[in-house]
Amino acid sequence: LPEVTDVRVAMTAQRKARTIIAVGSGKGGVGKSTLATNIAIALSRLGRKVGMVDADIYGPSQPRLLGREDTRPEAQGDKLVPVMSPHGIPFLSMGQLAKPGQAIAWRGPMAGRALEQLTDAHWGDVDLLIVDLPPGTGDIQLSMLQKFKPAGAVIVSTPQDLALIDAARAITLFRDAGVPVIGMVENMAGYACPHCGEVSDPFGNGGAESEAAALDMPFLGRVPLDRSIRLGSDAGVPPVAQGGSLAEPFTAIAARIDG
Ligand code: ADP
Repeated sequence: LPEVTDVRVAMTAQRKARTIIAVGSGKGGVGKSTLATNIAIALSRLGRKVGMVDADIYGPSQPRLLGREDTRPEAQGDKLVPVMSPHGIPFLSMGQLAKPGQAIAWRGPMAGRALEQLTDAHWGDVDLLIVDLPPGTGDIQLSMLQKFKPAGAVIVSTPQDLALIDAARAITLFRDAGVPVIGMVENMAGYACPHCGEVSDPFGNGGAESEAAALDMPFLGRVPLDRSIRLGSDAGVPPVAQGGSLAEPFTAIAARIDG
């Protein structure tokens, strides 16, 4: 019996040593998954051992974004073994627990169990687990706060009011649960016309930065609206892995998160 206790103590210590950072948003489609992928890769290039949990039950995008749609995870004992992506990020996704193309319509307890399967897996030496949350403030968020309380949360928003109002709700959820919000990222701000180069702002510009100031939290950076970001992401070649100016905003945001 003493040995069993020792193992449990060691396992708890190991679990505690793994930092969880949640990436959330108020609305869907604001680029939360895209940001999660790119900061995961950027943080691993900064020397962190990063894993990804794709908990976005409504739109599990990580298998595509990380360029690994072809492989499903195997189980070892009663736990899943994360799938390694070509970018060096091991990951597990809600999408891998459902049949391809199938709607994931799980009630709260089942969604909670699925989250547990993804998070309490054979993560090995991963010390930083990025959790790509579904948008909003639903069952998955509540399960995570109960069972795998993150060390911090990053909130992604586009600059317009309608997105920011919902982002503020997500921020309140984390703060009320005692999870520090590391900061806010503004996505899809500033579109440079590929023909004339003039920069316009379809969703406005600066909204998330002023909202961050109003809510007394750091502003982590701005990612422009750029067709290459969408094209690379769709093809499983994340912008940050392409280097150059496409990678810069994500690398800077990751450095701020790491710092
Ligand atoms: P969410 O996780 O918030 O639902 P996604 O990350 O899935 O959003 O992004 C939604 C769509 O917008 C995707 O097709 C993605 O490639 C595209 N996208 C995200 N950020 C940008 C950007 N900065 N520029 C261009 N397209 C983007």
